[in-house]
Amino acid sequence: MKIETQSIHAGLPAARSGEPVLSPLVPASSFYAHPDDIGFSANDLSDKAPHFYTRWSNPTAQALEARLAALDGGEAAVSFASGMSAITGLFLNRLKAGDHLVLSNVCYAGVAEFAHDSLPKLGIKVTAVDTSDPANVAAALRPETKLVHIETPANPILRLSDISNIAGVVHAAGAELSVDATMATPVATRPLELGADFVVHSLTKYACGHGDALGGAVIGKADAIADLRKTSLIHLGAALNPFAAWLILRGLETLPIRMKAHEENARAVSAFLDNHPRVKRVYWPGLRSHPQHDLAVRQMQNFSGMVSFVTDDGAALARRFADRLKTVAYAVSLGKTRSLLFYIPAEDLIASSFHLEGRDAVAYRDWTGDGTFRMSVGLENADDIIADLEVALG
Ligand SMILES: *Cc1c(COP(=O)(O)O)cnc(C)c1O
Repeated sequence: MKIETQSIHAGLPAARSGEPVLSPLVPASSFYAHPDDIGFSANDLSDKAPHFYTRWSNPTAQALEARLAALDGGEAAVSFASGMSAITGLFLNRLKAGDHLVLSNVCYAGVAEFAHDSLPKLGIKVTAVDTSDPANVAAALRPETKLVHIETPANPILRLSDISNIAGVVHAAGAELSVDATMATPVATRPLELGADFVVHSLTKYACGHGDALGGAVIGKADAIADLRKTSLIHLGAALNPFAAWLILRGLETLPIRMKAHEENARAVSAFLDNHPRVKRVYWPGLRSHPQHDLAVRQMQNFSGMVSFVTDDGAALARRFADRLKTVAYAVSLGKTRSLLFYIPAEDLIASSFHLEGRDAVAYRDWTGDGTFRMSVGLENADDIIADLEVALG
């Protein structure tokens, strides 16, 4: 099946007379059980076990997991209450005291903060490097490195990392690679096919697509996902609400068609910004001027709807945008129907989230100046989005 078909069909109930032509929303927290079918401990959980308790598994979440696994070409998926719980769950499952994590030095701020602030307290060492150059990953690897985590495109600056190249380096050292592909979605990039061991998504973003549910997922090999379900879903407990799972399943049906429209609108918006006298730099992987456009062409089948841009005096312009924008919402998050824009000052991220120093801090400022506008180009008519930006830019 092609991705447009998978996004609608994967995870549906069997086509039998009387079955719904839609995955049903099952809000039940527990299910009838027989003592012969399942034990009370998560350690007894097998793939064949019937549903028992919604923190373990749920029919609606299971349908979503089947669809996500199909879209990313993975054996299995496990869903979580948010993207953060998916990623923290993965880290805590794959890493133990004495292990070493190599992390992209630009990534989702919450992930960077968790890695820098919480993992060392558990005896896990963390090295953050610029993963846009695979040589930096190779140089950071140690015998005790167990996991390398990258994000491509990276939030908020849309820097890319070469998944297949990094997978080769990581596997040669006996470690595993996880890729946060929230901004790419499986429509643009399927990291497992490029050699990654795990792909993670914040389902809150493009997967849901409508800005009305939080969710996260990890996709990978069946045995690793079963272990993750046990230690990170059942025991840490951030289970996806069935209603959120249902909304995300519904959102996924239009993911491929939405991504085409997001990409087209981002093409128009980035071209407009590129020609605007107040805008100094525009980053969209589909622009020839993106420093990694060649990698984008190789690795992305869709350039996504995320655009970041830099202006002089971004902090003042952010206030103007918040006051004047009408079609575009001045708000965080991304990947929904409505266009969203937010200003992210460089200093905050460099110091408190990414802990960048020396050469890495300079490289970040070279990319973003004092700060970057991160725009999630929505599905409105591109002319209306551009007209709104034009008025607000003044
Ligand atoms: C939003 C986001 C996350 C965190 O997801 P939540 O669903 O908000 O917890 C992780 N990674 C990326 C790239 C994101 O954009």
